[in-house]
Amino acid sequence: MLHPDLYRPEAIEPDPVTGPRPAALVREIEPYQAVSSLGQIAARAEQVPHKLDWNEATVPPSPKVMAAIADFLNHAHHLNWYPVLNSANLIERLSAFWQIDPARFLVTNGSDAALDTLCTTYLGPKDRVVVAAPTYQHFLVFAKTRGAQIVEHYGPDPFQNDMEGLLATVHRERPQMIYVVSPNNPTGTEYTPAQVAALCEAAPQAVVIVDEAYSEFSGRSSLSLLHTYSNLVVTRTFSKAYALAGLRIGYAVAHPTVVKDMQRVFNPKSVNILAQVGAMAALDDQEWLANYVREVDDSKALWAEWGSRRKLTVQLTPANFVMVHLSRAPWVVQELNRAGVYVRDRSHIEHLSGFVRFSVGTRAQTVDVLERLDRALAYFGG
Ligand SMILES: *Cc1c(COP(=O)(O)O)cnc(C)c1O
Repeated sequence: MLHPDLYRPEAIEPDPVTGPRPAALVREIEPYQAVSSLGQIAARAEQVPHKLDWNEATVPPSPKVMAAIADFLNHAHHLNWYPVLNSANLIERLSAFWQIDPARFLVTNGSDAALDTLCTTYLGPKDRVVVAAPTYQHFLVFAKTRGAQIVEHYGPDPFQNDMEGLLATVHRERPQMIYVVSPNNPTGTEYTPAQVAALCEAAPQAVVIVDEAYSEFSGRSSLSLLHTYSNLVVTRTFSKAYALAGLRIGYAVAHPTVVKDMQRVFNPKSVNILAQVGAMAALDDQEWLANYVREVDDSKALWAEWGSRRKLTVQLTPANFVMVHLSRAPWVVQELNRAGVYVRDRSHIEHLSGFVRFSVGTRAQTVDVLERLDRALAYFGG
């Protein structure tokens, strides 16, 4: 209870002059407009929803994950104690799984936290960061928070990587950091290990980040290059193909010196214990993962058929989403919302005019989504 003497009836507003203000760098950043469909979905329980807006898995995780977490919760003390420091237990499993030295891993609160920690560790005001655009927006916020200057490189075709142009930008800017996503969100563009190697060599002064959030779907990775390039960092996540977005767990793999440098600012108890338990169980069930990846692959074939039947551009990607070109995209998206299909309108992004991103789930879900999309298009006379 607040003491009555301390209670002031008038509303207290922070004083813009004498009150606390965010740091100068932070004041320049607009708050992230988190548009999640979760609230809408909960409000309309009668309709089977398709949450396809954030590239999450469309199914719950492996039953073994659920069992491991339930089992864990049956033990006293498991929640009142802090989690395993630095997720050493999970790192041991990751090290065996990838056959990579445990000293090369940093497990983080989602791979977002790995990106954030990399920016805190390596960036200062005015440092230049070259990114292959269009790209994952959250990374840009982390870099801007450090006062870094973002140099976005757009190639002529958003669905092809433009190595020549990207390398020219790197040579011109001499950045402190380079960020590519492979396969890229939202375009699906990939960077081969040879292309990643070229980036590492072009900028030995730079930390070269390859964000592999969707790598389980493509089956390709630059992890093997870690033995050749000490300036390379690969980030991975359990949020997408492993279906654990709600637990928040991911990791960075890099040279042990890079990991040590990140640990200067990293809080070793920031990853919660249920995430550690869930991730270990998920990693152990590769059969579940392979099945889900196969479902998503089959669904992409359904999308391709639909596109050629409807004579619409469906840009398939090696990840779990497709980009669909729709005239009157914002209206179609609204109509889809009404039909319980939640997607991400990317049509306002430079070079992506007219494109809407759909996460891809199982075959049965995709059949239903395509039916609802057909109905939404019919509504507009399509
Ligand atoms: C979804 C996504 C992530 C995942 O972030 P988490 O924090 O691991 O959930 C990272 N990078 C990209 C490009 C993504 O699309």
